[in-house]
Amino acid sequence: MNSTSWPKSRFLRVKCNDCENEQIIFGSASREITCTMCGRTLAEPTGGKSTIKTHIIEVLE
Ligand SMILES: [Zn+2]
Repeated sequence: MNSTSWPKSRFLRVKCNDCENEQIIFGSASREITCTMCGRTLAEPTGGKSTIKTHIIEVLE
């Protein structure tokens, strides 16, 4: 799944590529989102939509 295939107003379940921690992030966050376990960047804001920098497990309804 790539970063253009989900609506920006959805929550995404992602897994950190470095430590495999899973967390829920918002698809249109206005700030950088980092892993709560290791601090790796998981998403960066790009024109009102987050660019996901890690593995997306699923898009939540
Ligand atoms: Zn991590």
